[in-house]
Amino acid sequence: IDGYQNKQVLILGLAKSGLAAAKLVKSLGAKVVVNDQKPYDENDAAQELEAIGIKVVCGHHPLELLDGVDVIIKNPGIPYSNPLLQEALKRKLSIITEVELAYQVSEAPFIGITGSNGKTTTTTLIYKMLEEDRKNPLIAGNIGTVACEVAQEAKSENIIVTELSSFQLMGIETFKPKISLFLNLFEAHLDYHGTKEEYAQAKANIFKNQTQDDFAVVNMDDAEVRKVSEGIAAQIVPFSVKEEVKDGAYLLNNQLYFCNEAVMNVKDVVLPGKHNLENILAAIAVVKLLGCSNEAIYRVLTTFAGVKHRVQYVTTINKRKFYNDSKATNILATTVALSAFTQPTILLAGGLDRGNEFDELKPSLEHVKAVITFGETAPKIERVAKEAGIQVVKRVDNVKQAVIEAYDCSEEDDVVLLSPACASWDQFKTFEERGDMFIKSVHKLK
Ligand code: ADP
Repeated sequence: IDGYQNKQVLILGLAKSGLAAAKLVKSLGAKVVVNDQKPYDENDAAQELEAIGIKVVCGHHPLELLDGVDVIIKNPGIPYSNPLLQEALKRKLSIITEVELAYQVSEAPFIGITGSNGKTTTTTLIYKMLEEDRKNPLIAGNIGTVACEVAQEAKSENIIVTELSSFQLMGIETFKPKISLFLNLFEAHLDYHGTKEEYAQAKANIFKNQTQDDFAVVNMDDAEVRKVSEGIAAQIVPFSVKEEVKDGAYLLNNQLYFCNEAVMNVKDVVLPGKHNLENILAAIAVVKLLGCSNEAIYRVLTTFAGVKHRVQYVTTINKRKFYNDSKATNILATTVALSAFTQPTILLAGGLDRGNEFDELKPSLEHVKAVITFGETAPKIERVAKEAGIQVVKRVDNVKQAVIEAYDCSEEDDVVLLSPACASWDQFKTFEERGDMFIKSVHKLK
């Protein structure tokens, strides 16, 4: 594309995506300036960019950077309340995110997946099903490679599967997925978006450029999602775990259906939980639109045990099943994880204290037979577990000990679930590190 020839582009935020975007628009002939809040010596990529003739301004956001600018490509994490962006909005400058750029340079069509929860799981499912059916998918964004790098390499026979946060969707202008997917809408990120309406509106952007030749896969069980998809131009393809929906994906007598055709039985699905049935039906709707075979879907669903750290099946030891849900950094996520099981469950929870009291956890503790707590919030979770009438409640120092304690109080056919309901930063660098520690400790039990 020649749209960037001699254009003045300001890249805001020098993370992985900023770096990729800077190099890309530079290669398209733009004059590029990169600006990042962090000081120069903390920006590893600064020298690399300067070496190819890109100006790098670090440590502050001087307003002069806006002079003569045609386009700003901003990192999704930078809020619009940033003074530089406020000024840019006043000057009516075009502000986009990296996914818009990816769309502009791509020969391949896009599948865009959004929602409050389940994006990564569903994106992975769709990618795996298409791959299994040799439909040349590419995965881009949060998981996998930065979208604009993938887009540059993509050919028209590819299809790019990408997860889209509300932050990314706020910065699109022409981005038009061939298939959009809207999973669900909970109150999240209100600190960034202000109100739930603004948050819903940002996500609804996924539909805005679609035409009647495109498809929108929509969760019929979520009233908010139904509302934002009313009157859109794309053809709506519904999915529901609750009822039979016309021309869509649904659950009936324990079979997964698409358009009146049984795809497979739920009993053969490895992924646990009702929430995952939503993700699965959504994925089936998307891949069936692209002509994917039932065999390919079957092969993925009978083997895929979940994205790492998301109610991920780890192993079975002496008939006890172990699951790692380290990604559950809030109460809602733990509630969802607990609802995935009907067996007696031993819950491992605790972590960074953000001032929550955890009383909302009580209703989901019904089939929990023991709670092992650790981290800053251990005393609070301990209190709630005891008030919920759980007989075995233990406080330990760390995840490793929690695994040992959990095994000691377990019996055959129990589930042992790490789903902390808290961020990990009191004891770990990341939730991934916490999950890895859990997995390692579980394997040590053997
Ligand atoms: P995201 O990428 O949107 O954060 P993930 O696929 O990583 O979503 O899942 C994160 C957590 O969200 C899971 O561990 C699970 O607890 C919860 N979750 C996943 N899918 C759903 C869903 N369809 N509805 C509600 N909660 C879900």
